[in-house]
Amino acid sequence: MRSVTAYATPGPGKPFQKTTIERRDLGPKDVLIKIHYAGICHSDIHTGRGEWGDTHFPLVPGHEIAGTVEAVGAQVTRHSVGDRVGVGCMVNSCGECDACQAGEEQYCAGMIGTYNALDRDGTWTQGGYSTHIVVTEDFVLRIPEGISLDVAAPLLCAGITLYSPLRHWNAGPGKRVGILGLGGLGHMGVKLAHAMGAEVTVFSRSTAKAQDALELGADHYANTGDPETLGRLAGSFDLIINTVSAAIDMNAHLNLLALDGTLVNVGAPSEQLPVHAFSLIPHRRSWAGSMIGGIRETQEMLDFCAQHGLGADIELIGGEQIDHAWDRVVEGDVRYRFVIDTASF
Ligand code: NAP
Ligand code: ZN
Repeated sequence: MRSVTAYATPGPGKPFQKTTIERRDLGPKDVLIKIHYAGICHSDIHTGRGEWGDTHFPLVPGHEIAGTVEAVGAQVTRHSVGDRVGVGCMVNSCGECDACQAGEEQYCAGMIGTYNALDRDGTWTQGGYSTHIVVTEDFVLRIPEGISLDVAAPLLCAGITLYSPLRHWNAGPGKRVGILGLGGLGHMGVKLAHAMGAEVTVFSRSTAKAQDALELGADHYANTGDPETLGRLAGSFDLIINTVSAAIDMNAHLNLLALDGTLVNVGAPSEQLPVHAFSLIPHRRSWAGSMIGGIRETQEMLDFCAQHGLGADIELIGGEQIDHAWDRVVEGDVRYRFVIDTASF
């Protein structure tokens, strides 16, 4: 075992404390990663504040990890000391079920989350708000040269969570794509959908982010704070990705879909989202969900980002600013991802 520095929250909504946690000794297939940067995802906050049900405390969140390989186990073949690598929301899965065979490990019943999950050795996984992590090599991604590690970190969750549904539902030239909510996930959705060639509209609660949205690559901006916006744009989208972290009126937003359009929920509020059957029936609309992406697809997304010069728009913070950053995320005051610099530990 090796003791490493981390920031943990001791209970729901309790302030972070600097602490030490144990990382396991390297098994033959394990990679020891020195974490340089860890992004702050709204899922960290849902979990740390107990909004999704049971959380095991103390909790070290963080599933947007970018760093370098410090050591490898005897049988590791995919990664070498010094490599630039990332870890996202998963650190293991069964490897045998249909989902795993299809490269969709995120849907494996035995998938082990990067934090707040019971690991195979009976310990609770602890995430990226720490200086080091040990992960089996199959769940370690290569960060291509050309993307710096700080702006790469958020790609490991925010990036893949938007890339996967955009690809699955064929975002591209001729497709009218709407992105609901311009936060961490949403801003990556704009960049990715634009790079895929789709016509992109951002839906945001005010006019405050209009200029940013266009600079990120959006073609249009819709202020949902104006009560006329949703009605005016009814029936004009092929694909909408809802990244909003709170409950919104799904019926009003489903009404934005054109014939055969799909609204994909990636936003995961704790509240239920009631839907009227008549929001779906008239235009043969679909309402779907999507969870991150598989390991193969995550690598594909990182390579795509390198090819298109994409990274997250970030604000770097130190370990002592995590609580403040969480509050700012909840207030919608982030442009567009906080990233913790572990050099500050
Ligand atoms: P975030 O940075 O906080 O962005 C969420 C955005 O939602 C905000 O920027 C805001 O956009 C909008 N919003 C927030 N509260 C709202 C409200 N009350 N009414 C209307 N709009 C509101 O969060 P994130 O990190 O992008 O995560 C977004 C959600 O996705 C979270 O629920 C998270 O848990 C979930 N998530 C899911 C997956 C998955 O695999 N499915 C992966 C990662 C995260 P505007 O200011 O532009 O209106
Ligand atoms: Zn996340």
